[in-house]
Amino acid sequence: MKLNSNLKVGKNYKETSIIDVNSIKIGGKKLTIIAGPCSVESKEQINDISKNVKRSGASILRGGAFKPRTSPYSFQGLELEGLNLLKEAKKNTNLPIVSEIMSVSMIEKFIEDVDIIQVGARNMQNFDLLKELGKTKKPILLKRGFSATIEEFLNSAEYIMSGGNENIILCERGIRTFEPFTRNTLDISSIPIIKKLSHLPIIVDPSHASGISSLVEPLSLASISAGADGLIIEVHNDPKNALCDGEQSLNINEFDELVKKVKLVANAVNREV
Ligand code: PEP
Ligand code: MN
Repeated sequence: MKLNSNLKVGKNYKETSIIDVNSIKIGGKKLTIIAGPCSVESKEQINDISKNVKRSGASILRGGAFKPRTSPYSFQGLELEGLNLLKEAKKNTNLPIVSEIMSVSMIEKFIEDVDIIQVGARNMQNFDLLKELGKTKKPILLKRGFSATIEEFLNSAEYIMSGGNENIILCERGIRTFEPFTRNTLDISSIPIIKKLSHLPIIVDPSHASGISSLVEPLSLASISAGADGLIIEVHNDPKNALCDGEQSLNINEFDELVKKVKLVANAVNREV
């Protein structure tokens, strides 16, 4: 595949981009590890998880407040209260926070409250949302849609870039294939392909890619070997009772072990954690 050479996300525009999030540099030699629960559930939950993932080596905290659930009867997130709890966890740990936006009407609120705005897989081609986010300067974590090609993914990033916002972090989170064993299929080859086509950093979400907690470690190590700039991992203090995505969430100890192994692989590919 050849990317249109005029695209701002392409290599003709820039060789590499390093995105600065409160002095954390995403896309350089140092890998970025983002961790936290699928959803913010309570003050105790987010405070416990944030403190622990920080101690293990995460540099950014994730937590969903507005959740895009397949069923309208599933937990939809704590919404504004979730954002407030995330802000409190940030105050306690000094970790920058990332959370998913679902609607254009929430942009101002998200600019104020979070450090990185996440655009989820289901909104990767919500072009109105992408255009509006392009008018801001806020770092955007853009996730690949589960049936989007690499070219479509990069064009979605182009919507944000062409509006003037060049602070984009791409995220490979698996695509839908005929294989039902895993929730999605992690497209490992998209990492070196995107590295070749684009200057933007790309991180991997092995939690949503697999849907199975025991697969998170091998997929994380494979992603770092393949050149990913970081990982976003779902971690819960009590995965069995999580309100969302418990089956794919690591517990606190498993996350700690994962970071140790990521350090070994990072070393082997001349990166740092
Ligand atoms: C998430 O990160 O919480 C999420 C819903 O991911 P995705 O958009 O990749 O499904
Ligand atoms: Mn999730």
